[in-house]
Amino acid sequence: MKILVLNAGSSSQKSCLYEIQPHTDLSTPLEPLWEASIDWTVNDEYGLLKVFANDQKRKIDLPLENKGDGILIMLETITHGHTKVLSSLEEIDIIGHRIVHGGRNYSQSCIITPEVEQAIQDLIPLAPNHHPAHLEGIRAIARTLPHTPQVAVFDTAFHSKIPPEAKVYPIPYEWYEKGIQRYGFHGISHEYVSQRAGKILGKPLEDLKIISCHLGNGSSITAIKNGHSIDTSMGFTPLEGLMMGTRCGSIDPAILLHLMDEYGYDKEQLNHLLNKESGLLGVSQVSADVRSIISAIANGNHQAQLALDIFVHRVKSVIGSMIPSLGGLDVLVFTAGIGENSPLVREQVCAGFSFLNLQLDLEHNNLKCLDQNIARPDSSVDVVVVKTQEDWAIALQTLPFCS
Ligand code: ADP
Repeated sequence: MKILVLNAGSSSQKSCLYEIQPHTDLSTPLEPLWEASIDWTVNDEYGLLKVFANDQKRKIDLPLENKGDGILIMLETITHGHTKVLSSLEEIDIIGHRIVHGGRNYSQSCIITPEVEQAIQDLIPLAPNHHPAHLEGIRAIARTLPHTPQVAVFDTAFHSKIPPEAKVYPIPYEWYEKGIQRYGFHGISHEYVSQRAGKILGKPLEDLKIISCHLGNGSSITAIKNGHSIDTSMGFTPLEGLMMGTRCGSIDPAILLHLMDEYGYDKEQLNHLLNKESGLLGVSQVSADVRSIISAIANGNHQAQLALDIFVHRVKSVIGSMIPSLGGLDVLVFTAGIGENSPLVREQVCAGFSFLNLQLDLEHNNLKCLDQNIARPDSSVDVVVVKTQEDWAIALQTLPFCS
């Protein structure tokens, strides 16, 4: 079975090709046969396509004026040149797409029919940066491989059953009726890493109270009980919740009114301020990247120190706020760029929960610890670092639709 995964972002396109045999052990992620990514932000004229397959790397400049052809040029590298792994694209059995927003109606993955494509189109106002790119991918594939099924895997789906008290905002109820509610994001990652943590610990998911911390450039935390999301920190949009690389996370909404009244900010300026100029970058004035912030701290930069302190404080606050709804905590999961790679952040976050007898093995935390439990044996809470593998998770969710 050959599964192509497309993961389109606002300024990038990632793709992987997996080959799954009937006897393949699906509990451990497979290496893709072929993988590629397009970054459209390299410069004003070109995007950069990077391909990796057969132990070979290829880099191709893609003129921005032909952005629409990017996916097709990317797919061509599957069947041509030294990254060739298939004779024909027709050998692909099915395609899985990461779709950022499923709205209220899509609580699980499904085959992309004209109706589903229309729903993705209708949800553009809720995901204006992503859904046009998703549609571009779906349509490019439909033109190239009209008979190959395509599956939508929604990033909101995992959160679709969070209870009303966590989902409904305390604003007039008519706005909930019009669709303003907490949707939550990073669902593919949270679901995958929680399942993987259960496997790593050898414990059934049904028995576990898990808090999953997806800490990357975008960050969110989810509370998972019996394998289901019961609360999550991102909300109506991915702006709510934690402090992020350049996003502010939750702030007093009256700050926006103040900026409009007193400083004449308009919608575009606010959007830019909250999404691009805030977070770790905004406070530190150094970088959105934790690595640069840690280097700046070592050089005595106080704003960098403050940025990291706020980040950790907010992660601890959100974790703490979810424990009562879970009724306890069995497993804390760290994943994504910061969660997987920053022992310092993990140590500082975990230190806040020593009152629960969460005991981190500090030595293990500083070693290579991907897909391992880094809590001490006497800890009441397990702490698992899991490599998030969204593309593999999408392939797994696509697999049941293969006929
Ligand atoms: P996204 O997918 O949301 O763009 P990632 O999950 O790839 O983000 O995370 C990227 C972030 O991870 C970087 O901006 C950086 O802050 C952090 N990161 C990556 N490597 C390290 C590291 N070795 N130490 C600390 N932080 C790291």
